[in-house]
Amino acid sequence: MYEIIIEESFSSAHKLRDYQGVCENLHGHNWKVVIVLESEHLNEQGIVVDFKDAKKITEELMNKLDHKYLNELSWFCSINPTTENISEFLFNELNAKMPDNVYVKKVTTWESDGFGASYYK
Ligand SMILES: [Zn+2]
Repeated sequence: MYEIIIEESFSSAHKLRDYQGVCENLHGHNWKVVIVLESEHLNEQGIVVDFKDAKKITEELMNKLDHKYLNELSWFCSINPTTENISEFLFNELNAKMPDNVYVKKVTTWESDGFGASYYK
């Protein structure tokens, strides 16, 4: 198997519903996202997917979240915009957009230097 790794970031605000603590208040993060893509095969050029093509897909998705209030986005209207759920959202959105031979293996989202959460299947 081959893996390629893309790092992204976005800034956004959120607050956690039904949560007792400071995170129930509106606040922001500079989120960092690590996306691991995998493929069993390389293409004719010997690559999984052109970094530029993959980056275009990941950047478009980051732009949907950047400088937004996550609680207002449709995905997070009924589920909490936790770091775990953000990773799941990104995993599913990216998997649907990647070329046929490329799969999202894992998405890890960091809300700060010390705290991150991953989603994978
Ligand atoms: Zn937070």
